[in-house]
Amino acid sequence: TAATMVATMAACGDAEKTADKEAASGDTAGALIGITMPTRSSERWIHDGDNLKTQLEGLGYKVDLQYAENDIPTQTQQLDSQITKNAKLLIIASIDGEAITTQLENAKNAGIKVIAYDRLIRKSPNVDYYATFDNFKVGVQQATSLLTGLGVLDATGNKTDKKGPFNIELFAGSPDDNNATFFFNGAKSILDPYIADGTLVVKSGQKDFETVATLRWDPETAQKRMENILTSTYKDGSKVNGVLSPYDGISIGILSALKSGGYGTGAQAYPTVTGQDAELASTKSILAGEQYSTIFKDTRNLAKATGEMADAVLKGQTPTTNNTTDYDNGVKVVPSQLLESVIVTKDNVQKELVDAGYYTADQLK
Ligand code: BGC
Repeated sequence: TAATMVATMAACGDAEKTADKEAASGDTAGALIGITMPTRSSERWIHDGDNLKTQLEGLGYKVDLQYAENDIPTQTQQLDSQITKNAKLLIIASIDGEAITTQLENAKNAGIKVIAYDRLIRKSPNVDYYATFDNFKVGVQQATSLLTGLGVLDATGNKTDKKGPFNIELFAGSPDDNNATFFFNGAKSILDPYIADGTLVVKSGQKDFETVATLRWDPETAQKRMENILTSTYKDGSKVNGVLSPYDGISIGILSALKSGGYGTGAQAYPTVTGQDAELASTKSILAGEQYSTIFKDTRNLAKATGEMADAVLKGQTPTTNNTTDYDNGVKVVPSQLLESVIVTKDNVQKELVDAGYYTADQLK
């Protein structure tokens, strides 16, 4: 038991054991926790940061919350500074999952624990736990909703008699974010059989992850790529029927390219465009019949799970995890807590987002 451990360690009396004893005996009460988030340019990270801060302060901890506006050197400086300020635990949503190895090594040497938040930190042994959503499943959901929007699947997920061919285009997230490959692989696991049998045609021919990835999840980069595809691949007058988009910000870029290309006006409806995060602008776009779907990941639940994890770690306990196989960061498999996400279309915005208290009806007007 913890009490016996404490007693044994106290008897040993050396400095290192004393540090352990402090954690186990709850002397980390009121400790400083450093939180680093990638950017304020996407609402979800603002919600994540706010929810985490409230949760951890509610548990009596002090919180240093930082945003890096997608700039890697800024994020490494923020981590350096949190380490200097004697944080006892770092919760990190990394920009580049491989760029903070030195900081993590320093953290380890200072006895600071590390939780990867939402995005896996790669190529470092110094990551203790990971809290996220089931990222492969998010991709599966995105692809499933694309098929539903095209009418290939019905509302219950069964195949209809619609065989296409439907022209689709694929977009993926940032290549330095481990999640981006999970989303893309999840989506491809569903789409590939339909591409193979000709129901779906990726008309641009741009299919592999490197080609369709979008550095830093940047909406403008996605918009330009969609514009280029429209003016090359579709200059023969053929139409795009569906677009796999991994994130609402990217969907906004794609939809503006489509709008400039004459979609969404008169008889030419928008294609089925997917998304992720249920951001406010995109949820409104869904209600307006533009974007087709998004994947809702309730950041309140992720904050709660991470807060509990942080609290357990600081008390020297083993936090709850539900996956110890899928998240190999290249050096170790990081014990993970995976949460569930939900497909949202205009049919369930009310139930999933309004009734659940994520948005008020007024915000969606
Ligand atoms: C997150 C997504 C988000 C994307 C862009 C990913 O790591 O899991 O929820 O859409 O980053 O911010």
